[in-house]
Amino acid sequence: MPTLANRYRVVLIVLLIFAGLLLSMYWAGRVAEQRTWTERSQEARGQLELYAQTIHTQVERFRSVPALLALDSDIRKLLENPGDRQLRNQLNRRLERQNQAAGSSVLYLIDRQGNTLAASNWREWSSFVGYNYGFRPYFRDALTQDSGHYFAVGVTTGIPGYFLSSSVKNAAGEVLGVLVVKLELEDMQREWVGQSGILLITDALDIVILSNRPAWRFRYLQPLSDETRSQLVAARRYAEQNLQPLHSRRLQRIDEDSERRQVDGPDGRHNYFWQRLTLPSENWTLHLLQEPQLVAANIRSYRLAAAGVWMTLAFLLLYLAQRRKTRRVEQRSRQELERLVEARTRELRTAQDGLVHAARMAALGQMSAALAHEINQPLTALRMQLASQRLLLDSGRSEAVREGLGQIEGLIERMAALTGHLKTFARKNPAGLPQRVRLDEVLDQALQLLGPRIRSEAVDVLCEVSPDAWVSGDSIRLEQVLINLLNNALDAMQSSSVRQLRIDCRRDGNEWRLSVADSGGGIDREHLDQVFEPFFTTKPVGQGLGLGLAVSYGIVRDLGGRLEVRNDAQGAVFDIRLPAVEARASE
Ligand code: ADP
Repeated sequence: MPTLANRYRVVLIVLLIFAGLLLSMYWAGRVAEQRTWTERSQEARGQLELYAQTIHTQVERFRSVPALLALDSDIRKLLENPGDRQLRNQLNRRLERQNQAAGSSVLYLIDRQGNTLAASNWREWSSFVGYNYGFRPYFRDALTQDSGHYFAVGVTTGIPGYFLSSSVKNAAGEVLGVLVVKLELEDMQREWVGQSGILLITDALDIVILSNRPAWRFRYLQPLSDETRSQLVAARRYAEQNLQPLHSRRLQRIDEDSERRQVDGPDGRHNYFWQRLTLPSENWTLHLLQEPQLVAANIRSYRLAAAGVWMTLAFLLLYLAQRRKTRRVEQRSRQELERLVEARTRELRTAQDGLVHAARMAALGQMSAALAHEINQPLTALRMQLASQRLLLDSGRSEAVREGLGQIEGLIERMAALTGHLKTFARKNPAGLPQRVRLDEVLDQALQLLGPRIRSEAVDVLCEVSPDAWVSGDSIRLEQVLINLLNNALDAMQSSSVRQLRIDCRRDGNEWRLSVADSGGGIDREHLDQVFEPFFTTKPVGQGLGLGLAVSYGIVRDLGGRLEVRNDAQGAVFDIRLPAVEARASE
């Protein structure tokens, strides 16, 4: 029956396991998240560095082009004589060729006032020739700082591009004009379209100038101040492009360059893992936005693994605790059992002792009638002797009186021996330390006690017992066994015509075997196995208790021997087997 305290304990353990489960899952989730984000961040950074490298090499290839061309003497000549038509045509063609060779988008020459004198695209409808670009910062930077770079949407073509400029100087070092190369970077952008994740390149104002998703282009990540806006308009940087905001909210900062953001992009609201990398030479920033699904899957598997480990641990602990408890209970019940067995054994021994005594008393009772008869004889003889002694005394024959008294003494001794023997036999606890006992002596005592019955029933006794049959035991108990066997034999022979009791004793290996055989017809086959059972008797009520053989069996066993039964041609044979002890030299 589970007690209340036990039930509380079970509930507590279940709660603890559950709490541990949640805790371990939470903790594993955190660890997984942190690790995955860090890994992610490193991966994304690697990817961005690759992109940055591509952009950088692309731009670097063209950075020196305007500076080299600026050294051309024809270019300087044209800047000094802008009206020279022939020279202008010639330069137009040359720029066209050089532009093709270099792989840039447009190559063109601007004079100090910002007017385009020659351009590689002079043949096309979108030719720059004649246009004034004095408002473009790359032009002004080249005038003041010798070179400039600038991303903008083409005013003439509407095509965005990166403008790299370099000043053209005369021998005196005066600036005559500016040479510009425009890179459209559209090819590069097209190449990125297939890449996973969203790639954004923002300029110094945090406006997306390039992206592998066209819809994300020309969105600003930071709010633009009015002043910036008016500057943008003045420089016509994004031409008529409609600038739109890209709203986003930070969810979690992972490290300096990466975070998780919720973004309201052109394709709806999504959570992204957002990594940044600055491109200092261009003053641009590269951004890589990735969907964090994979991370969630990763976290889930970490959590599951942690749950598994935790449950295994918890059950292992429970199992060990249970085993310890069971062991303790087992040990306790074993001790309890041992105590019980001891107590029962003690009780049994007492009961057995009682039984032995009871059986002995029963045998005594049976013998007492015969004994009374036996004592009666010497008593009668004694009385007659006394009478004749008196007569002899009267006649003064003192010699004959002395002889007669000697006979009287003999008779009295015989009676004393009989009664004395009975007394010892009736003592309750005769078993003492085992002594060395001679079987022929014990047998003599028993036969002496049964002598009256044997004689009155006219039984032939054939006795062959060697005087060196020494065994270890106590004579009283052994005598009890023999009296039992002999009494049973006499009982069995009561109705037989031949009454023969054969007793012999032989050495059989390490033991002595004392056999008591009778001519009483033996024991029925089906009873052979039962005769040693307590209360088994075939004798009429009042004559047999069925305890004699059971008690005898116990006694012989206690002395380290065995009691066995068999039938021979005339009757039953009981064999007492007892371990032999060697006769001492002095005896
Ligand atoms: P009890 O003598 O009180 O019946 P025992 O245990 O001494 O009890 O004997 C049990 C039974 O064994 C006897 O009733 C008898 O049937 C059988 N028995 C014992 N000894 C002999 C024998 N020598 N011959 C035939 N039967 C015997």
